[in-house]
Amino acid sequence: MTQPPVRPGILDLKPYVAGESTLEGVEHIVKLSSNEGALGASPHAVEAMRAAAMDAHRYPDGGCVALREAIGHRHGLDPARLVCGAGSDELISLLVRAYAGPGDEVLFPAHAFLMYRLYAQGAGVTPAAAPENNKVADVDALLAHVNERTRILFLANPNNPTGTYLSDAEVRRLREGLPDDVLLVLDAAYAEYVDKNDYEPGAALVDSHPNTVMLRTFSKIHGLGGARVGWTYAPAHVIDVLNRLRSPFNVAAASQAAAAVAIADVAFTDMARQHNDYWLSWTAERLRALGLDLTDSVGNFVLVTFQTEPGRTVHDADAFLRGKGVIARPMGAYGLPDSLRITIGTGEEMHACVDALTEFTGG
Ligand SMILES: *Cc1c(COP(=O)(O)O)cnc(C)c1O
Repeated sequence: MTQPPVRPGILDLKPYVAGESTLEGVEHIVKLSSNEGALGASPHAVEAMRAAAMDAHRYPDGGCVALREAIGHRHGLDPARLVCGAGSDELISLLVRAYAGPGDEVLFPAHAFLMYRLYAQGAGVTPAAAPENNKVADVDALLAHVNERTRILFLANPNNPTGTYLSDAEVRRLREGLPDDVLLVLDAAYAEYVDKNDYEPGAALVDSHPNTVMLRTFSKIHGLGGARVGWTYAPAHVIDVLNRLRSPFNVAAASQAAAAVAIADVAFTDMARQHNDYWLSWTAERLRALGLDLTDSVGNFVLVTFQTEPGRTVHDADAFLRGKGVIARPMGAYGLPDSLRITIGTGEEMHACVDALTEFTGG
């Protein structure tokens, strides 16, 4: 039987490989593979989700009105200029489909978040990567890679998996150097963790430059990865396009309820940020003291680069950690074949991880 022909490029896609969560024969897993919030979600958000289950037979509010109001209130943004999605992943996909097609290019830094490339390929769009400067996005290299086919530039700021960021001044220089009609997408999935006074998640640039959008997610500091909620702040013309293209009920009712409560729970978010501040520097200090090579991270994870001599490789380290029940994330798919990304978990989990790497390095 002949199969219906699949659109060109689809069968070249390699399905996204999510962080693993089980190890055979290990009961107590330390899962540090997906940058999930260390403290889980706000208990009030979980309660809202449970309560929403009573109305599971009702369709959700397709416009996410209450959630957009809660986000607008928290961040001082006009709810009319927000669109929510099933994770910011969905919004990335919608932006690619709306603004690029076969023959067009989307551009991003070499070690960018993988979904930019995957959604481009899925839409028949050519992905283009500009080299980075020591694992930091390079504004000049990005601008040098812009051509007449470039439709969108994706910048995760801070970036996953490197954990590095660009200052507000650098992001502005990037925007100024781009042709006006190239959409600049600032993906600020880790914005809440950043404690740098030269950093800006992007809302101000959205206001001052017509073709700039900011993406945010509930999957990281809000600990709601399983609920699948993200949002974008964008100019009215982009909001209009996304509302035409998205599916009418793209965010589940229980997820909307949980997210609206989570974003208002400032005490919980503050606690999660303080937790990360402490354990990020604790972990980085200890791993550096073992002689390991760490990239400076402002997110809720660290990128560790291993040596290539036998017994010391990233493969060896990953296998050793797994033997101790610790799951980190090898970064080969991100063009970082010698690196492992380790999420900041609970204090107990970071002790387990550092103890294992101490043993591994013989430190
Ligand atoms: C985790 C992550 C996202 C998004 O996740 P969703 O769960 O789809 O909201 C987006 N961008 C970056 C850079 C991320 O690391």
